[in-house]
Amino acid sequence: MGGVITVFGSANMDLVAYVPRAPHLGETVTGTEFRTVPGGKGANQAIAAARAGAEVAFVGAVGSDAFGPALRAALDQAGVNTDGLRVTDGPSGIAHIVVEEGGGNSIIVVPGANGTVDGPSAEDLAVIERSDALLLQLELPMAAVVAAAVASPAPVILTPAPVVALPDELLDAVTLLVCNEHEAAAITGLGEPDMALEALLARVPELVVTLGSKGALYGSRDGSRLWAPAVPARAVDTTAAGDTFVGALAVARAEGRRPAQFLRFASTAAALSVQRPGASTSMPYRREIDRALEAQPLAGP
Ligand code: ATP
Repeated sequence: MGGVITVFGSANMDLVAYVPRAPHLGETVTGTEFRTVPGGKGANQAIAAARAGAEVAFVGAVGSDAFGPALRAALDQAGVNTDGLRVTDGPSGIAHIVVEEGGGNSIIVVPGANGTVDGPSAEDLAVIERSDALLLQLELPMAAVVAAAVASPAPVILTPAPVVALPDELLDAVTLLVCNEHEAAAITGLGEPDMALEALLARVPELVVTLGSKGALYGSRDGSRLWAPAVPARAVDTTAAGDTFVGALAVARAEGRRPAQFLRFASTAAALSVQRPGASTSMPYRREIDRALEAQPLAGP
């Protein structure tokens, strides 16, 4: 069960302030609550995959500040192997998040240690070689992401977030691209997700476009096209639904499940996560995903 997955990505400490409304330039407002939560797309996907049942290794960097050990501890606690986590002199990556009443937010990301990561070392590559998948996102320097993708002997699953122009060299090395509808539109210039999907399949062999509560589209160059409806959920917080989806999808795919099955596994995991507050704190464990799958009326995986 679970397969072996390596995540080469970011770890950020999310510094979340809750306010009646965000301050204008030069203004001070009094907040109602403050939380410090381990995050970053890389660490989130690693925790999601570990909870979904995989053996997971994380390669990245934290700083020499107090956030560094806290970020490592969060990964360790989820059972993620952190042997490949470097400690660099200076601050860890942070995301400064201001959440207004009503849920709107503004975010400042300062990469810190994430910005110091270069390509994978020989030890990292040995770990990737033993993996069923390498998960990449774009919160590390592009040169490092490209180097990891190009050198990876394992299938590469890329989440193109935050969205930037994607070098051909990177896309040529990608096995499966998983993006949300906004990223798909930004990359292709096409607002219709199914049209963006067709355009992206000219650049990658396999693709998922997630559509929030509307589900997810899948396509592959062998001609397969699928739509996986979202699993009905009473959503309280959709933060990291995408990272939960990717982590779980990678696990089910590493177990050899077919697209219809790995999409349903991922949709079920993401639906469980949106019913609970927080990012990594909301990610479901394998037993919860299996139980929810069994409870669904459709045929099991
Ligand atoms: P985020 O940036 O919030 O992490 P995202 O924009 O990357 O998310 P989404 O497309 O919003 O990704 O969601 C990913 C998947 O999560 C969807 O394809 C769907 O399966 C599931 N999901 C998201 N929102 C809901 C919801 N309200 N109810 C049920 N499932 C949901």
